[in-house]
Amino acid sequence: MLTTCTKGTSARIGSAGPRVPCVPVTPEEFRQNGYALIDWITDYVEGIEAFPVVNPELKPGDVRASLPAHPPSATEPFDAVLRDLDAVILPGITHWQHPSFFAYFPSNASYSSILGELTSAGLGVQGMSWITSPACTEVETLMLDWMQELLGLPQRFRSDSATGGGVIQGSASEATLAAILAARWRATSGQVNHDGDTSTLVAYATTQSHSSIEKGLRIAGIGVERMRIVPVDQHYAMRVDELTRMMAADIGAGLTPFFVCATHGTTSSTAFDPTAEIAAVCHANNAWLHVDAAMSGIAALAPEYRWVNNGLELADSYCTNPHKWMGVNFDCDLFWTADRAALLGALSILPEYLRSQAAESGAVIDYRDWQVPLGRRFRSLKLWFTIRCDGIESIQAMIREHVRLTELLAQWVEADSRFEIVAPHPLNLLCLRLREGNEATDSLIERTNLTGKALFTRTVLNSQSTLRFSIGSRLTTERHVLEAWRLLQSLAQ
Ligand code: PLP
Repeated sequence: MLTTCTKGTSARIGSAGPRVPCVPVTPEEFRQNGYALIDWITDYVEGIEAFPVVNPELKPGDVRASLPAHPPSATEPFDAVLRDLDAVILPGITHWQHPSFFAYFPSNASYSSILGELTSAGLGVQGMSWITSPACTEVETLMLDWMQELLGLPQRFRSDSATGGGVIQGSASEATLAAILAARWRATSGQVNHDGDTSTLVAYATTQSHSSIEKGLRIAGIGVERMRIVPVDQHYAMRVDELTRMMAADIGAGLTPFFVCATHGTTSSTAFDPTAEIAAVCHANNAWLHVDAAMSGIAALAPEYRWVNNGLELADSYCTNPHKWMGVNFDCDLFWTADRAALLGALSILPEYLRSQAAESGAVIDYRDWQVPLGRRFRSLKLWFTIRCDGIESIQAMIREHVRLTELLAQWVEADSRFEIVAPHPLNLLCLRLREGNEATDSLIERTNLTGKALFTRTVLNSQSTLRFSIGSRLTTERHVLEAWRLLQSLAQ
């Protein structure tokens, strides 16, 4: 059988005769398709309110069933791909950029960062070593130093400090894993690289810590049996007296406290652990202190919220995600350590095929030694584009507006006696529930989400079902928050 490629080239399929390859996209087609795609993205984002935040009718398997079961044997015009984006993909996604998206934490994608992402794909470099693309490494190092400055972080995290430095990880989960591995290396004086023995190591986090801490500990061979869950106070922050007590008990039992994760802005309620006090306990017991500020750390871009950094000058490592609240599209987690030797001890490896004069001179950074995978994209471009083209002032304004809207929402909620606020709301997350109880709150969340007009996630605080109202989309305005609140009020009847 002879098929004709859309672009005019013949392609033979099946077993009869030799296969004639289709011609890949030409430079001119790439240019035109690119313009069409940028138009498509712009129209999507600007027209996003026409979509329900989620498609309540979508069933598992619907998206797949709308597409051919087998790969095409001939090329198709780009128009056909765009048509399927409209017909199949859009009805099948949750619209994270929607201004009425109040679920999880935000995952903004500004226009500038999208172009940075595209540039990274266009350059197509692998930045595992300095020599494999010097600009990829050097721009990343500079961006981490810029962000240290913009966030007002301790100098000891800077790349030009004596012992510290920063790197872009894909996610806060990867940053946590890197911190655990560095801590494990330090606690065993590097011996873990030889005998793999972690049997005496113990880690500490709270009931409110992100699940990635447990995942990281499992991957690192520590396991949940040696992960201590420190109780929290009435504001969901770590109780340092409990941490002290638990560590002493572990030491008394012959174990070695090696890692503590403090959170600045927990996922359930944006609680802040008392990092300075936790650090004193860690230092007394030689444990590594990692601070996870995945969402809330970005607030420090506005100087009046720099309190989110309290205690960081005493931490061994820190991470925050521009891919949540700063507008830099996923994936972009910033990870700093004040002890790069431990990180490099855990993760450096130099096979023959990666040897270079630059690597061995010690004069350059090879970021493959700062992360789990070898290969890495030019991710700093999207941060660089965003800082340069959107500008920090516009991002500060967005953060301030989200905090203002959260405060305004809190006032509305307080005025409706059916609802109660169940946790402090220092930034842009409000946790509320119906006084009627768990069932009523769960039902309200479910029925609201089914409308497609707004999206919320549920959590449990103090054994009570809680609706998280997370305000972080760059398109969200007062109107969207008010409409979502009125929707909750009307469905709470
Ligand atoms: N830590 C906290 C406090 C979070 O809120 C989240 C996600 O919301 C994470 C870690 C995980 O983030 P990531 O998706 O970047 O791994």
